[in-house]
Amino acid sequence: MTAASIATAAYLVATLLFILSLAGLSKHETARQGWTYGVVGMAVALAATIGPTVHDSSVRGTTVLVLATSIVVGGAIGLWRARIVRMTAMPELIAMLHSFVGLAAVLVGWASYIEVEHQGLGGFAGSLLRIHHAEVFIGIFIGAVTFTGSIVANLKLSAKIKSAPLVLPGKNILNLVSLFAFVILTVLFVIHPALWSIIAVTVIALLFGWHLVASIGGGDMPVVVSMLNSYSGWAAVASGFLLDNDLLIVTGALVGSSGAYLSYIMCKAMNRSFVSVIAGGFGIEAPGGGNDGEQGEHREVSVDETAALLAGASRVVITPGYGMAVAQAQYPVAELTRILRDRGVDVRFGIHPVAGRLPGHMNVLLAEAKVPYDIVLEMDEINDDFADTDVVLVIGANDTVNPAATEDPDSPIAGMPVLRVWEATNVVVFKRSMASGYAGVQNPLFFRENAAMLFGDAKTRGDEIVAVLGAVRAVPAFA
Ligand code: NDP
Repeated sequence: MTAASIATAAYLVATLLFILSLAGLSKHETARQGWTYGVVGMAVALAATIGPTVHDSSVRGTTVLVLATSIVVGGAIGLWRARIVRMTAMPELIAMLHSFVGLAAVLVGWASYIEVEHQGLGGFAGSLLRIHHAEVFIGIFIGAVTFTGSIVANLKLSAKIKSAPLVLPGKNILNLVSLFAFVILTVLFVIHPALWSIIAVTVIALLFGWHLVASIGGGDMPVVVSMLNSYSGWAAVASGFLLDNDLLIVTGALVGSSGAYLSYIMCKAMNRSFVSVIAGGFGIEAPGGGNDGEQGEHREVSVDETAALLAGASRVVITPGYGMAVAQAQYPVAELTRILRDRGVDVRFGIHPVAGRLPGHMNVLLAEAKVPYDIVLEMDEINDDFADTDVVLVIGANDTVNPAATEDPDSPIAGMPVLRVWEATNVVVFKRSMASGYAGVQNPLFFRENAAMLFGDAKTRGDEIVAVLGAVRAVPAFA
């Protein structure tokens, strides 16, 4: 068996492991197993890529050394970053990693162009050469869009720039002109490859990627994260064609298609048009301000009152949001759940598809704190049950429980389905102030008669409630 055929067989094994990994990651129960498949698959893929290089006498020793050093240094930086990253900073880290894939695709495209230019026609001729030029062009375009788009996403998710959409005059026309220019330049480049056109497409794609993501508002950022995930996959596919690496093509296609499907699911969950979001908010006009003024008096509640309310409840629903992740409040929340369930209270969780800052964010935190999977329900599974619920605890959630989404057509989040917590008898909102959520929209829930604010850090308040819960007796409802 030759080294090449062993590498091909190993690529096949790695591909299968990646598919099994995706299947495993789609369910709580099998997620760890899926992760293991992914790690083993990547190890096999690396070994299969480097192995033949080491044994190939035509490859210089310095090349192997550069390759080995890059893997060791890159792997060490990756491990270090993954160990120190806070759970709340995961989305921006992912956006940054997507930008690296995009940049790699741009560099591979340029390197491939320069190599062919140097060799003259070399191994390529006729229509094969044209296909190669098209691959270079498309690879650079997708890579550059992913690169700058992911940088903007990173800046928005880490709050280094504001999350409100950038609305340039004629923004849709700008996007369309960029796409049109790309098509025309591709045709010109395939017919007559020239350095100026490859520079032009790189600049246009960098600006296009920046504008595409800058035009999308805070509420639609979840879709952007999964969309950039998809773009990074297609950028890897383009690199795979240029490097003639089958595994990169297959892996990129898996990432590209699963990211596109996730974007589609999120758009459906948020009642957004898939096409308009991926086209940088195409067709979505600048949002109205909604009703951001004072909406009446809010009422505060104490830890003792909240504990007493819970002690008298039969049905409790907990709706966590980004603030639970910031406070790391999942541990007292899990402990509270255990205490209430031991007393015979029906406790369930309602998870909004975009709660937190990354798909599945709340599920990961609750699993970490060992909350049983079977009481963690999705929005559609729980939304009709709020009317029969005694107490809802909103733990650091805001946009995902905002009634303005369904009641105020001028709101920037109008049309987005939300958890209808206000239908419950009592709602206690755990947060530190009256500040708005990620989308920057006022929340009328806080001023409802059956709602009360429990101000403070969600973990501190959760710990305090757990401590006093045993001593309290039931009290009448707020309303
Ligand atoms: P929000 O971002 O709407 O609100 C979180 C709330 O948590 C804030 O109002 C804040 O209020 C409160 N909070 C912050 N820290 C603490 C703390 N230590 N203790 C108690 N409360 C705290 O959260 P949601 O989960 O409801 O909504 C998610 C938003 O993020 C949506 O707009 C979504 O579109 C967006 N998004 C989601 C992504 C995803 O993939 N899931 C990705 C990108 C964006 P205060 O400061 O007063 O404490």
